Amino acid sequence: MLNLVLFGPPGAGKGTQSQKLIDKYNLVHLSTGDILRAEISQGTQLGTEAKQLMDQGILVPDEVVIGMISNKLDSNKDAAGFIFDGFPRTVAQAEALDGLLKSKNSEISCMIALEVSNSELLNRLLLRGKDSGRPDDANAEIIARRIEEYNNKTAPVANYYKAQDKFCSINGIGSIDDIFTSISTVINDL
Ligand code: ADP
Repeated sequence: MLNLVLFGPPGAGKGTQSQKLIDKYNLVHLSTGDILRAEISQGTQLGTEAKQLMDQGILVPDEVVIGMISNKLDSNKDAAGFIFDGFPRTVAQAEALDGLLKSKNSEISCMIALEVSNSELLNRLLLRGKDSGRPDDANAEIIARRIEEYNNKTAPVANYYKAQDKFCSINGIGSIDDIFTSISTVINDL
């Protein structure tokens, strides 16, 4: 199985590159952000609770997203592999994911980190906010909170995979196709 973690701060391009990876490698895309937004649009209780936090740029509790991922792994038993996008976002989530995959006799193949400067991120997110309609893209203060959450809680996840020798970093500035070529090279060398 090819199980990839796509890693990077908000606005790094994880969603864009995921789409291309799914097509090329036939992977199931699991984006916790997308799953949470689907819960919100369906008006579920989980969605209503998550929305309060997401609109402020704060992470939702680990057990909520771990439960969501566990369900998705169970409902995609025949997948050739997964691309995890926006998950794991804390070390506790990374540990839980290892446990879930192990129980299915599988493991993470590699974490691919997209490196993008803070100023470029802010520009991209404000631009995206103009047409994404996402409340958390709409103002600079909330975006700054998301980047702060990322630096405090999510950046340490890179060390978790470095310790397992599964970390690979890619320059996330450049054309979409050039970045995709760099990612594909990493995958083909696995
Ligand atoms: P981005 O990476 O652009 O910030 P996402 O769609 O991945 O966008 O996430 C949007 C919001 O959803 C986050 O700010 C957070 O509130 C919530 N969220 C998504 N994934 C997770 C996760 N794995 N753990 C906790 N909260 C999450």
